[in-house]
Amino acid sequence: MTQENRSGRQAEIHITQMRRNPYLADYSTGNRNADKNINRNTPRRQRRRRHARIRSYIRMTLLCSGILVGIVALTKLLKVPAGTAEASTPMEAIDMAQQVGKGTENTTGTRIQGLSAETYAAHPDWTEDFLTVNEYSRPGDPLTEVNNIFVHYTANPGTSAAQNRSYFEQLKDNHERSASAHFIIGYNGEILQCVPLDEIAYAVQTRNEDSISIECCYKADNGQFTRETYDSLIRLLRWLIDAYELEPEDILRHYDCGGKKCPIYYMEHEDAWERLKEDVENL
Ligand SMILES: [Zn+2]
Repeated sequence: MTQENRSGRQAEIHITQMRRNPYLADYSTGNRNADKNINRNTPRRQRRRRHARIRSYIRMTLLCSGILVGIVALTKLLKVPAGTAEASTPMEAIDMAQQVGKGTENTTGTRIQGLSAETYAAHPDWTEDFLTVNEYSRPGDPLTEVNNIFVHYTANPGTSAAQNRSYFEQLKDNHERSASAHFIIGYNGEILQCVPLDEIAYAVQTRNEDSISIECCYKADNGQFTRETYDSLIRLLRWLIDAYELEPEDILRHYDCGGKKCPIYYMEHEDAWERLKEDVENL
């Protein structure tokens, strides 16, 4: 074997070794560029590199998905406060909705005579003296809406609020007629409440179901109210229209609904009636 042949043979062996283990080339020959040219572009190596890249992508994707799922799970855990849980069955969901409902009720407070405690508490002074539930003066039927406030007069001069209340109460025994009102204002200005605001009274035949009625005592022959009765009436009307979100125009005379001469003074004196509503508005 000549020197040339020997070196050719050695080169051949070296190439074979490099194919088996390409990394050998870089360190055994010192001719890195030449080795690259020979080895890097072999189809086998390209395939391996492609597969390695794909495996690497898959690993990275799986890792990222894992991290993402972990973050979502952790966020969800932190968002649910201790002591609460999500409903896992429809029945649990209903129970939880009911619990929420109870909470709302507690925050809005209790209702008094159909009004919020806050609204009710603002009412002018009155004496609560409810009639006995009976079919002639206090049927106990619910009053579910209030669209008007009716003003009446007792048609019985000089009688007190207490006497007129007794008259309504006795109707349960003597059955003379059906009559009542939510309030009676005495000629000294005292206010008696005879029927709760969330029940109907028997005062305006066709409108008992959606109105509140006030009877006024008087002394004068012409039916005009005393100053005390008038002042209490204005205060009571003001509170009522505020409580039921009404306007002064929603205050009516019994006369405005059915033509009965009640209250007679304010039927005969339109200007006094208009002034009464203005006084309510300006209070
Ligand atoms: Zn009347």
